[in-house]
Amino acid sequence: MSLQDIKTKLKELAFEKTTPFCYSCYVKCPSGICKSCGSDDLMRHLEGVGVEYGTDWVIESIVEEELEAIDLEEVFSQMIEESYGEGVQIGCISKSTSLAIKELDPIAWDLAKDEYIDSLGEDESIMEVGGDYYWIHDLESL
Ligand SMILES: [Zn+2]
Repeated sequence: MSLQDIKTKLKELAFEKTTPFCYSCYVKCPSGICKSCGSDDLMRHLEGVGVEYGTDWVIESIVEEELEAIDLEEVFSQMIEESYGEGVQIGCISKSTSLAIKELDPIAWDLAKDEYIDSLGEDESIMEVGGDYYWIHDLESL
């Protein structure tokens, strides 16, 4: 599935899981029009979470509830150790490769990590939802 398809699907899911809600009358309006005041300017009501306009907050809430965000530091460390080996010898000590890079050059570590995250985004392997990243295959499972 493409990123765009996933966004569309998540939006559909957000509509499915919520009910239109008239904030002025404070009632649910499943038909999409408020029976009390006739307004169609309705918020979305998500059971147990709240009421607000739009669906972005619904999507964030569903995703946070159902999925585990990616630990980018962990994923990047794994990639580094797969590429360069798990450990390095520096003089008389041996350290984990990722720990050594992080300690010796934290700026290079962060730069490389950001690039790696960007590349995962470009490959459409991960997607940002509400400030956290999630695997596309996890999002598809929703
Ligand atoms: Zn109303």
